Amino acid sequence: TIGMLTMDKNGNLSGGCTTSGLAFKMHGRVGDSPIIGSGLFVDNEIGAATATGLGEEVLKTVGSFLVVELMRQGKTPQQACEEAVHRIMKKQPDRKDFQVGYIAVNKKGEIGAYAIHPGFSYTVYQNGQNNNVIPKTYFS
Ligand code: ASP
Repeated sequence: TIGMLTMDKNGNLSGGCTTSGLAFKMHGRVGDSPIIGSGLFVDNEIGAATATGLGEEVLKTVGSFLVVELMRQGKTPQQACEEAVHRIMKKQPDRKDFQVGYIAVNKKGEIGAYAIHPGFSYTVYQNGQNNNVIPKTYFS
């Protein structure tokens, strides 16, 4: 999945995501990306989040909506992304055969990201500059 979250000069948030789905997926499978709240969620009063990885796991927790709701409750984008990944891993703490990663931004422009495994990165474009960031992960 490619997920993009943006804040304009007036502080308005938006987002988009696109995916080809999983390799060798079952015919007719619908992943998380086209489901609002799972692969992407934006609430211009609170923040925005998007997901990548195994869509079934994101769908089961309505992951991007969860990240935004956690920010609504006062969590930073980083804390919210970590809790959303932990919500998935809590039920299967030793399962290592799939990836999920989230990125999030809040109304203050603070950014967070977290993934299950290394290999997930994102780019922040700010003040005319691109910065590549490698976020913390559940497994090292
Ligand atoms: N999230 C996508 C899906 O499950 C896969 C991806 O990350 O591209 O359909």
